[in-house]
Amino acid sequence: MTFDTVIHGGTVVTADGLFKGDLGIRDGRIAAVCETLQGGARRIDAGGRLVMPGGIETHAHIAQESSSGVMSADDYLSGSISAAFGGNSSFIPFAAQHRGQSVDEVIATYDARGSRSVIDYSYHLIISDPTETVLREELPRAFARGITSFKVFMTYDLMNLGDGGMLDILSVARAHGAITMVHAENNDMVSWMNGRLAAKGLTAPRYHAISRPELAEEEAINRAIQLAKLVDAPLFIVHVSTAGGAEIVRREQWNGAKLYAETCPHYLALTRDDLDRPGMEGAKFMCSPPLRDAATQEALWKHIRMGTFVGVHSDHAPYRYDETGKFLNGADAPYPKIANGMPGIAARLPYLFSEGVVKGRITPEQFVALSATNTAKVFGCTTKGRIAPGWDADIAIWDPEETRTVRLADQHDNMDYTPFEGMALTGVPKLVMTRGQVIVEEDKLVAREGQGRFFGRAPADLRATSGYMAKEFDPRQNFGTELR
Ligand SMILES: [Zn+2]
Repeated sequence: MTFDTVIHGGTVVTADGLFKGDLGIRDGRIAAVCETLQGGARRIDAGGRLVMPGGIETHAHIAQESSSGVMSADDYLSGSISAAFGGNSSFIPFAAQHRGQSVDEVIATYDARGSRSVIDYSYHLIISDPTETVLREELPRAFARGITSFKVFMTYDLMNLGDGGMLDILSVARAHGAITMVHAENNDMVSWMNGRLAAKGLTAPRYHAISRPELAEEEAINRAIQLAKLVDAPLFIVHVSTAGGAEIVRREQWNGAKLYAETCPHYLALTRDDLDRPGMEGAKFMCSPPLRDAATQEALWKHIRMGTFVGVHSDHAPYRYDETGKFLNGADAPYPKIANGMPGIAARLPYLFSEGVVKGRITPEQFVALSATNTAKVFGCTTKGRIAPGWDADIAIWDPEETRTVRLADQHDNMDYTPFEGMALTGVPKLVMTRGQVIVEEDKLVAREGQGRFFGRAPADLRATSGYMAKEFDPRQNFGTELR
């Protein structure tokens, strides 16, 4: 057997276990996994290192306009390079439909943007305007192209769909096997809090955290789940930031809902005290849902360990600390006029490895599940996220012992700050490849622009999820059969 590349002498980590072994790569795919392999046009020595599936980042805002028209600082070139330096070999950013836009045109726009990526990419659609044409024609067309996840918002005046709009999307998604992702915060609770704070003149960044209460997330998570259960549609709750929200997710998973959720490193690493930094610096730490507190961090770690979350994803939403980003509406804008979001696509996996694996909160196998394998199943990445013969050679080789301090100067995104500045993290991705082609090696970019490819996805893998049947839709009940 001949190989293009053999990775030898490393410890291979999969979601199921860990073993000493070699990988043989041919034509961009893993061709052999064996105790020892000879040959290979190139041999990569992985002695003392971990050989893992490359991360799949499934929550990132890249070359995306917000509903208020602010463009994220990273395009598909800088965003994908930053992702690769952080151990990712593919990603699934959002393609956002704003009100009045055609989904077909949105996808064409993102196809042009995505063509610069150095790693493989796909999109989740964001739907803010579910017209009849969108529901009956454009979503099915997107689905046929392999865009099998649709995100909706329960908050933001220009994005939120209302419960009826959510049911429309959920039932269309279910009919096609797509999964609906939801940003769950109660819009009226947030608007009401904004009104109270504005009336008292409380507009500094720190009030952003107060304006979006934990209860607003918990209420909306619960409501989203009940809406999804009514039509038995699979649901993915993005960026869970509260202990109460995670507990609701866990309980409903136990009850059979086809329910998945993620949390993000910033909810584990930072707290709302970071919004109290002097001057306007708190703006760097503004995101929605907002940062919480230390007790929440501990609760979220427990849920990561127990499997409530299928993944920990970055929610990379890069808005610079200047007039192009955070301060588009002026240097001392009130918090509701400051762009929401922070960068983190490069820090996600080093943070999860260091605080998770190195500190003994999760196993290396769980790290692989949380960074790639689970997500690949939920979002239908049928050739990525595993180390096994026939799968894409999307690999990250890590030095598990090297410690580095996060510094802005070492970042590869287009940002002028990192919220993880100064944190010492142990575990460094030293080599990342996508389909057998090396993208990053020993801190150097070796890929060329546009090397990544779009990948279509399959429906979510819902095997062994029992689902939920509302009595009103249940043919075994003596009512409601008309709806089936
Ligand atoms: Zn997001």
